Amino acid sequence: MALPKRRHSNTRTNKRRTHDALRVPAVGECSNCHATVRPHNACPKCGYYKGQKVDHTVKDRDEKSKSR
Ligand SMILES: [Zn+2]
Repeated sequence: MALPKRRHSNTRTNKRRTHDALRVPAVGECSNCHATVRPHNACPKCGYYKGQKVDHTVKDRDEKSKSR
């Protein structure tokens, strides 16, 4: 079986590992229902973005109670 001729230097190992760290994903809070939302995305729970309803496929609790 093939074997490496030389071991990698500490610097080479550390350079490879510069990209290994896990990062906490960026999250924000919905201004309408206070659910956790990714930045620049409409809220998955209520469909609101920047205080306006943009995703009309998502049912809204407030709208339901008003219409009935
Ligand atoms: Zn929301």
